[in-house]
Amino acid sequence: MKVPLLDLKVQNDALRPEVDAAIKKVLDSNGFILGSEVAGLEKELAEYCQTEFAIGCASGTDALLLALMAFDIGAGDEVITTPYSFFATASCITRLGAKPVFVDINSATYNLDIKQVEAKITEKTKAIQPVHLFGQCAEMDFLREIADGRGIPLVEDAAQAIGAEGGSKRAGDMGAIGCFSFYPSKNLGAMGDAGFLTTNDEALAKKLFALRVHGSFERYYHKWVGLNSRLDAMQAAILRVKLPHLDSWTEARQQNAATYRELFTDKGLTEAITLPTECENGRHIYNQFVIRVPERRDGLKQFLQDNGIGTDIYYPVPLHLQECFAYLGYRAGDFPESERASKETLALPIYPELTSVQQEFVVDKIAEFIA
Ligand SMILES: *Cc1c(COP(=O)(O)O)cnc(C)c1O
Repeated sequence: MKVPLLDLKVQNDALRPEVDAAIKKVLDSNGFILGSEVAGLEKELAEYCQTEFAIGCASGTDALLLALMAFDIGAGDEVITTPYSFFATASCITRLGAKPVFVDINSATYNLDIKQVEAKITEKTKAIQPVHLFGQCAEMDFLREIADGRGIPLVEDAAQAIGAEGGSKRAGDMGAIGCFSFYPSKNLGAMGDAGFLTTNDEALAKKLFALRVHGSFERYYHKWVGLNSRLDAMQAAILRVKLPHLDSWTEARQQNAATYRELFTDKGLTEAITLPTECENGRHIYNQFVIRVPERRDGLKQFLQDNGIGTDIYYPVPLHLQECFAYLGYRAGDFPESERASKETLALPIYPELTSVQQEFVVDKIAEFIA
């Protein structure tokens, strides 16, 4: 049996006639950049995220960059964020000449340890940028309390968290700006690169709409130096076919997570490995199902690979130890929980079309390795 980490084929095959028709419509229109498909998708995304505005752009990375640009963040400024995330979380800060100020993670959720944030705030702090890692929201109520009183905006890296909820709010509706990615491995993936932002602030939305087209409201008149970061019509048309299925895909991921919990518990494996923590009053969308394997994680990964099971490590090197950030002066030992997580975590297949037979196979093989 083969169990890949992610298999897009079943999902894409099922939608193929609708996707073909959507692409044909765009080809027939000869309008390829922005336009009515993008505007239509933006309206549907704002509704889905329960925000006033959604702004399409070229990728999740650009969404983060645009969000920080909307707050005029640049040289001399500091942005507080997590070192345990995808690279873009920090690179968008340094690309603008600002400094990422890292705060370690909570070992249970892998999200920012909110108790450590306040001590890192200085007069240079221009934003706090939590990540809703693996599809579970950071503790935003607490962060909002610290940030709002000081007038510091919260920028959500919600790239892995479309539709995730914490308390009564949805990802993208919890801070000043939410940043999302349609990279194919996310819960809602494009057939190429794409991303979007959300906000409830009309002035910010207007600025973001301008920043994605070279900082102009009117063509050839530039108020700011923006980016060329537009969402193309073909991706928007494809995403409009997929969006109505997102909730059922997310529910299938949640069902798969529940099945893993049962299987791991039934086989008595919950001592040797730690299952993901689900926070109360939240909606975890399980972009990834990440277990913690304190001993021989790399050996287990290899063993599973030898048995046809795909896994991955998110992330093997925490951001403060990346070569390109050596100039920031961080050292090994600075963020012990992030460093431990990079040595111990392993993402298992969780995609919606995964079958319970495949899941049993995965857990059986893990049991075999541990025995
Ligand atoms: C995927 C991802 C991004 C970047 O999105 P792209 O669309 O690949 O540019 C940023 N942050 C996190 C946490 C991600 O998972």
